[in-house]
Amino acid sequence: MKLIFEKSVAGRGQQYLPKCDVEEVALPAGLVRKEAPKLPELSETDVSRHYTELNKRVHGVNSGFYPLGSCTMKYNPRIDEEMAALPGFTGVHPLAPAYAARGCAEALETAEQYLNEIFGMDACTFQPAAGAHGEFTGVLLIKQYHDARGDSKRTKIIVPDSAHGTNPATAAMCGYQIVNIPSAPNGCVDLDALKKVLGEDTAGLMLTNPNTVGIFDENILEITRLVHEAGGLCYYDGANLNAVMGVVRPGDMGFDCIHSNLHKTFATPHGGGGPGAGAVGCKAHLIPYLPKSKMMDESDAIQVRSFAGNFLVVIKALTYIMTLGREGIPEAARNAVLNANYMQSKIKGTFEPAFDRICMHEFVLDLSKFKKETGVSAMDVAKCMIDNGMHPPTMYFPLIVHEALMIEPTETESRETLDWACEVIRSLYELGYKDPEYMHNAPHSAQIGRPDDVRAARNPILRFHP
Ligand SMILES: *Cc1c(COP(=O)(O)O)cnc(C)c1O
Repeated sequence: MKLIFEKSVAGRGQQYLPKCDVEEVALPAGLVRKEAPKLPELSETDVSRHYTELNKRVHGVNSGFYPLGSCTMKYNPRIDEEMAALPGFTGVHPLAPAYAARGCAEALETAEQYLNEIFGMDACTFQPAAGAHGEFTGVLLIKQYHDARGDSKRTKIIVPDSAHGTNPATAAMCGYQIVNIPSAPNGCVDLDALKKVLGEDTAGLMLTNPNTVGIFDENILEITRLVHEAGGLCYYDGANLNAVMGVVRPGDMGFDCIHSNLHKTFATPHGGGGPGAGAVGCKAHLIPYLPKSKMMDESDAIQVRSFAGNFLVVIKALTYIMTLGREGIPEAARNAVLNANYMQSKIKGTFEPAFDRICMHEFVLDLSKFKKETGVSAMDVAKCMIDNGMHPPTMYFPLIVHEALMIEPTETESRETLDWACEVIRSLYELGYKDPEYMHNAPHSAQIGRPDDVRAARNPILRFHP
């Protein structure tokens, strides 16, 4: 397929611009371009067809099953988009005086109240632009708290090995040393290992719960009690809150602060679909440090981004919460858990679950035995899924499981879709023993087969050079 620049024809499409009906003003010479920008020139029909064609080549939530574990690609209700497109929300200027933006302020306050309720926290900020940014904000709150008390010997953050990879990265960005602790054989935090590392140098613990193998830690209250006893604070990575929203509250589990990805849990599009938002909630003792939406705030509050963050993403999340309501939010969580367990038990007998127990909203398959017997890797299986019209699950993550496929079906999939997906997965398991060669060469139907992903990540070519 040709790039839009290659389809350009000089002079085409210019009739769409209205004639200039005001006096032309010459810009200062220093500000004027030396040559015209190389923009593609096309008719509206050509542009429309170009993007429709690109759209057909992409697999999105609106085209099919997309069980991306941890990153939650669930259906985004259209009404969320409609509300975020209201002119009162899109037309507001961040420096507008308070009286002119009262509706927007009320929307933010309402969203904060709902999230306080869901998180079990006392206050919330929408400033962080995404999940990892929210973690950064939350850990800085912990740091400010210790600093304000003159408690400078707390230099370590404890991170279990089942945490999301961004957790240790965040702690390091905030200047902490990371203490990694192993999981017990049941996939939960090893309490003895935790007790051993707790001490006067503990600033806090970052916990992803349910963790990255889809397990809700059964010792959660004991964990937060132990950390507090040592003088540390507890951070809850609730990026993906799909299994627990409206059912249990991280605040009640003893956590001091939390971030949640509005773009994973509260149904606003992400990935190529739009910006995200990492809402950060905290208990009363951390409120003085929580970012305020005002610029140039002179309190102790930290500032991680301008104004109120990605405001329209918050509007989508608010709409989502209001349309589901007090009954719908926990019902969505229960269905997310039900769908994951339904799939996990249907797949059993082919690829084996990494932890053979009831899961939360996602589960991890361990393909190492299958690979040993057939030579077919988790990557090969994932590529074959593309040929079957299904987006691959998250692969080779979490790191504690080898040849991992991490499946999160989400609550928005029907039983028919789940049955179909289980059938595809079963057939790929059987194919592994019959025709491994075919699987090594998959995908056979996709536009792009197997890109060199390391090179693509290290040396991305992001600009077109004519
Ligand atoms: C996705 C995710 C993050 C990071 O969120 P981003 O918006 O991608 O920065 C952190 N923790 C967990 C558990 C996640 O699933």
